[in-house]
Amino acid sequence: MDVEKNTEFRVSMLASGSSGNCTYIETPKRKILVDCGLSGKKIQELMQKIDRNPADVDSILITHEHRDHVHGLGVLARKYGMDIYANEATWKALPPSVGAIKVEQKHIFEMGEVLTLGDVDILSYGVSHDAAAPQFYSFQFEGKQFVMLTDTGYVSNRLRGLLKNADVYLIESNHDLELLRMGRYPWSLKQRILGDKGHLSNDDGAAAVAEMVGNNTKRIYLGHLSRDNNMKQIARDTAGTILTTKGLGVNRDFHLYDTDPTEPTELFHI
Ligand SMILES: [Zn+2]
Ligand SMILES: [Zn+2]
Repeated sequence: MDVEKNTEFRVSMLASGSSGNCTYIETPKRKILVDCGLSGKKIQELMQKIDRNPADVDSILITHEHRDHVHGLGVLARKYGMDIYANEATWKALPPSVGAIKVEQKHIFEMGEVLTLGDVDILSYGVSHDAAAPQFYSFQFEGKQFVMLTDTGYVSNRLRGLLKNADVYLIESNHDLELLRMGRYPWSLKQRILGDKGHLSNDDGAAAVAEMVGNNTKRIYLGHLSRDNNMKQIARDTAGTILTTKGLGVNRDFHLYDTDPTEPTELFHI
């Protein structure tokens, strides 16, 4: 009897936004989290909503040391003992609040390398952000690809070329330029967000992903929305307009999706 090959590759943005980030990726052989920027308890609750459990997670990949990416890391690592991957500079820069992580759980995954975990290939690439050595990840399984790109003030041409034609993108859509300019943030913080090492605006995120989408692209998730300087509707409208203006088939060839700081996106079968 033929056993049908299991080709299930699934993702859920458990939480995305300035208040905390955590993404879940699963293949037949691996269950992976990228970042743990909420409390361990909160991440457990978010995983329950998609019928999954942190006890089953094999590995956690960290993008950079900011609190909205590592807040619950220590608690989960100590409770469940999974393997943790980050580059060396990020390991050194982790805030003391993360606490002790056993040396046998710590693994180095440097920028530009490809790491194979079970049946999934993971590529790391550097981004332009005010952290020690921020890097994001792309996951490949059975010819399908999921690309993550947030926490960057700028997307280089090299990266636009490297990340072309993925099935699913999580792209940063941090702020609406007008809301940020008019908002209550002090000038220095506005400069930080707007700078090359800050965060992508709705416009810049859409312009970057417009150069990456291809025939394989099915979904674009807009991520890391600022609570103070953005709204889902504005982010989606801006991205929709920019992608359509560039002649791309929004709502025809691919669809735009929101992410939320407290609600996971459905566990999508890529
Ligand atoms: Zn950050
Ligand atoms: Zn962040």
